[in-house]
Amino acid sequence: MISVIEAQRILHDNLPSPERITVPIEEAFGLYLFEDIKAPDSSPRYTNSAMDGYAVRWVDCAEASADAPVQLKIIGESQAGIPFNREVSANGAVRISTGAMVPTGADTIIRVEDTEELGDHVKIFTVIKQGQDVRHKGEEFAAGQLLFFKGDCLGSRELALMAAVGLHTVPVYAKPEVTLLVTGTELVCHDEATIKPHQIRDSNTIMLASAIRESGGVLTSTRHVQDSLEYTVGALEGGVASGAKLIVCSGGVSVGRHDHVREAALQAGFEELFWQIRQKPGKPLFVGRKEQTLIFGLPGNPVSAYMCFRNFVRPVLAELQGTTCLDNTLTAIVSEQLSNRGKRTLFVRVNIENRPNQLALVKEVGHQGSHMLSSIAHADGYVVLQPGEVLQPGSLKEVSLF
Ligand code: AMP
Ligand code: MG
Repeated sequence: MISVIEAQRILHDNLPSPERITVPIEEAFGLYLFEDIKAPDSSPRYTNSAMDGYAVRWVDCAEASADAPVQLKIIGESQAGIPFNREVSANGAVRISTGAMVPTGADTIIRVEDTEELGDHVKIFTVIKQGQDVRHKGEEFAAGQLLFFKGDCLGSRELALMAAVGLHTVPVYAKPEVTLLVTGTELVCHDEATIKPHQIRDSNTIMLASAIRESGGVLTSTRHVQDSLEYTVGALEGGVASGAKLIVCSGGVSVGRHDHVREAALQAGFEELFWQIRQKPGKPLFVGRKEQTLIFGLPGNPVSAYMCFRNFVRPVLAELQGTTCLDNTLTAIVSEQLSNRGKRTLFVRVNIENRPNQLALVKEVGHQGSHMLSSIAHADGYVVLQPGEVLQPGSLKEVSLF
């Protein structure tokens, strides 16, 4: 049996290579860049007005005041989308709207509020400074400047900036494809109307499918297989043939007579990376690799399956997308003793009680059995206790939040 840290290191050293693709920005939401990107265009693209008003030459109206307004002749208009294509001559003014191109010759914008129109003339009452309310070409960034960086996640803000500078396609990591294989002869689909006394509803399929999506994976197929070596080998071969980066299995990975996942994986050509970890829950976890496909044999007990997913599958999905998943954590005060008297790393599911202006309190969730789904569904997170670790009430502990 190996430790959690050792297992995570082996896994990190055996990742399949992430897939790099180039996609239109419309399809890039939530993906991560695999290269830095330079701005193809400058921002602003052209010198334009920050206000509705008049584009003028500062020398013509520098002395304007409320008592002694300056009068200029209106010689045309520059509208957003319809520029004024001549030069602003001495004592001329061009009506201008926000975002419209500043015509050549003009160097200053006078706001509408500081003017009054009289026929084909405009009276100017105030000029604060030369160049006021002019947005200069390239003042935000010039074409060729680095704008995005490898590892950036593309959300609404980044995509808007890409659209603005004319980036049509972007180099990103593809979301990793995942196949789900759920074993167990006792299982029936959760929505089955009738269920026999010896059967149980399959809760791992919906849990793992949701967790895969939450982690940015693309679930390409889900299969339920009976506890048979032959069927399991067949299903695993199908998973490899589909080209999925990960095959996530549930159940059948322990030492029982009807646990076939490990043997099936070896028969299907996977090389074992590790099996059995000094952790609770989740001791039977099996991980193997065949070329560019990893197989995760998660234990069937739902809490074990979830915690193994969280600590082993989720980080791999993150790395395949060109990122790392950092747990949200907080430091809380232990409210009742927490201890690990066993020999394995213990993941204790806990509740957090937030107190105004004080550190939160952390308390163990009542039921900790690996078959007790309420221990994760009702928990806020978990703490990690190493063998022999005892935390007295009042001590501080870091909590990983779900
Ligand atoms: P296994 O790891 O296959 O020995 O399963 C361990 C326990 O988890 C057994 O009690 C199973 O009935 C239960 N179990 C296995 N798979 C599922 C599942 N998909 N949904 C709910 N419980 C399961
Ligand atoms: Mg089973």
